[in-house]
Amino acid sequence: MNDFDWLPLQEADAPKTLGFVHGTHDRAAHLRYHPDQIAEFQAGNSARFLTFCGESAVLARQGETLEAWFRAGDVPARFDPADAVFLGFCDQQPAFAVALDASLEESLKADAALSVVGVRQAALERQVSAEVLGAMAQGKAMTAWHLRHRFCANCGSPTVSAQGGWRRDCKACEAQHFPRTDPVVIMLIVHEDRCVLGRQQRFVPNVYSTLAGFVEPGETIEAAVRRETFEEAGIRTGRVRLVANQPWPFPMSLMIGAFAEATSFDITIDTDELEDCRWFSRDEVLSMIEKRHPAGLMIPPRMAIANHLIRLFAGLKD
Ligand SMILES: [Zn+2]
Repeated sequence: MNDFDWLPLQEADAPKTLGFVHGTHDRAAHLRYHPDQIAEFQAGNSARFLTFCGESAVLARQGETLEAWFRAGDVPARFDPADAVFLGFCDQQPAFAVALDASLEESLKADAALSVVGVRQAALERQVSAEVLGAMAQGKAMTAWHLRHRFCANCGSPTVSAQGGWRRDCKACEAQHFPRTDPVVIMLIVHEDRCVLGRQQRFVPNVYSTLAGFVEPGETIEAAVRRETFEEAGIRTGRVRLVANQPWPFPMSLMIGAFAEATSFDITIDTDELEDCRWFSRDEVLSMIEKRHPAGLMIPPRMAIANHLIRLFAGLKD
């Protein structure tokens, strides 16, 4: 017997409600080495486009429903075809992401045929299918990367998009720049029948969540879990088990979900990070999930991996 017996034997299948994890389309990465072929796909009739503006996705209103994909001629503002990012094939059709000039956001919002919505909100409200949300995570992260990497980090000269948007090249010093993904550990600290949850000041009132932090260079995921837990809550941890992960395109993170077993139990809060942090019994957690906690405490929404981790601890499988 050990404290991890309540975990599933295999990595849990991510529930459909978990946002950004169901982008199972074919990325067709081999085509990135054939720019002519990508250009041909992009100009063809079957090409379709996810459209972003600033931090928002632009969706088309179709009666009561929202459509994330646009045909080239229907994209609601001009864009440079050379800046489109090749996402791969979604439902066998070549798919791209484009970023419209952020200054257009207000006029796009005023267009009754469109819905301009934050990508996080689209996930929260499940405005598009789980599969489209997966492609949206890819498109949102990639278009944001292009906007922030227009100049060479090595020499400061302008860079241009290459390989279907998966590289930026500096013509001056010939440096090649690739999109990165920032790993973040997000962990539920457990001991027997209780777990640690904390809240940051910026959280929605009454919401308590798992601890989290960026993995640093030269650090393993497990070491990052132990370091962040000690920094934020003063708790030492032993065994760490990875159970799920989630792309988080704000701007381009990968949330690595873990359980960690506490080996010390007194909490010392890092007040720069957290305004509260404490132990919760499994029963109390269950009352938060079921929205019947006497003080109105809650956990994050279903689209967030923290929710998934907390539900697993509470014994809920989906
Ligand atoms: Zn350069």
